Amino acid sequence: MTFEEIQEQDRNYIMQTYGRFPMALVSGHGATAVDCEGKEYIDFTSGIGVNSLGYCDERWTQAVAKQAATLQHTSNLYYNPMQIRLAETLCTLTGFSKVFFGNSGAEANECAIKLARKYSADKYGKSRHKIITLKNSFHGRTVTTLAATGQDAFHEKFTPLTKGFSYALTNMDSVKENAAEDTCAVMIELIQGEGGVLPLDHGFVKELRTFCNEHDILLIADEVQSGVGRTGALYCFQNYDIMPDIVTSAKGLGGGLPIGACLCGERLGGVMDAGSHGSTFGGNPVVCAGALAVLDVVGNESFLQEVREKGAYFTEKLSAMEGIEFVRGMGMMLGAKLKKGSAKEAAQKCAANGLLVLTAKEMLRFLPPLTITYGDIDAGLAILEKVIKEFH
Ligand code: PLP
Repeated sequence: MTFEEIQEQDRNYIMQTYGRFPMALVSGHGATAVDCEGKEYIDFTSGIGVNSLGYCDERWTQAVAKQAATLQHTSNLYYNPMQIRLAETLCTLTGFSKVFFGNSGAEANECAIKLARKYSADKYGKSRHKIITLKNSFHGRTVTTLAATGQDAFHEKFTPLTKGFSYALTNMDSVKENAAEDTCAVMIELIQGEGGVLPLDHGFVKELRTFCNEHDILLIADEVQSGVGRTGALYCFQNYDIMPDIVTSAKGLGGGLPIGACLCGERLGGVMDAGSHGSTFGGNPVVCAGALAVLDVVGNESFLQEVREKGAYFTEKLSAMEGIEFVRGMGMMLGAKLKKGSAKEAAQKCAANGLLVLTAKEMLRFLPPLTITYGDIDAGLAILEKVIKEFH
């Protein structure tokens, strides 16, 4: 099929919910994606932070293929050794003690929300169910995670949403104004990804942790985008030197297969009892085999050190470009503000020139595979530099 035929079939058969770039990606290797016409692109997006090890990493493909040829699925009515191995690995690497597996970031957050509400209902009664999230946050597309998302634009036309959420600014005065007797949790992204790659202030996060401790309010860190090595720590909460009560993970954890994980400490480990939650595919053995292959690489301190070094190199080169106003983010979760021209237009021009980049609000956003080489970083940034020069 030609690209035009693919585009037409997409229009015919797919709900048109995505503003797609004009290309169909059909294969990939390392940090290079290849479209249906054989054109190659350096990929600074990794499928929005999913392909942690790049395209078709041999360690990952072999683990997934081997598991697919052994046992592709069992229901959660039976014990699942791959799921247990993955949970044990996650707990050992993070200090948490229990995990629930779903299939996406939104589902991981749904579990976190249910867990926080049930913890509070069991201990204090049902009326203590409110959750504070932050303005400009993004937590998913289900009706409840949309309600958790602190951006009105996402809510319009989908009301009524799940009740019980309020939105604070990223300062303690605002959190305290929102908090009341009926508050059971505060949910944050340590770096607001979709909101423009905006890291939260360290002092604010520390104070928030203390405030939550004082009131037995659970602190939930949505690490769907910032987790699994993306920021140079296995989870971004480690960069902030705090321990959330609940962490959600997805995207990069599966390395290209759908997974969501909700992690909690010992205190909350027994809250979700039999029948309180579930998922047909959650913790599927093939997906878990892929995630184990990812953690086998990303869970090493030497690998995380490399992510930090590559992130610093990327940041330095990007910041030195004439058309860039500022760069922010951590590790290889980076955003850049252009001095002139729109990020969307720049992303389109980059694609036409063989480079895939993301945008978030007015920012260019970069989530390259964690295994990207310095050579690919240089080659991609050279394309970006050429594109933004055209705006001057
Ligand atoms: N939470 C955050 C911080 C995200 O960035 C996203 C997706 O971009 C989600 C939740 C939703 O994840 P998913 O699309 O896997 O449901």
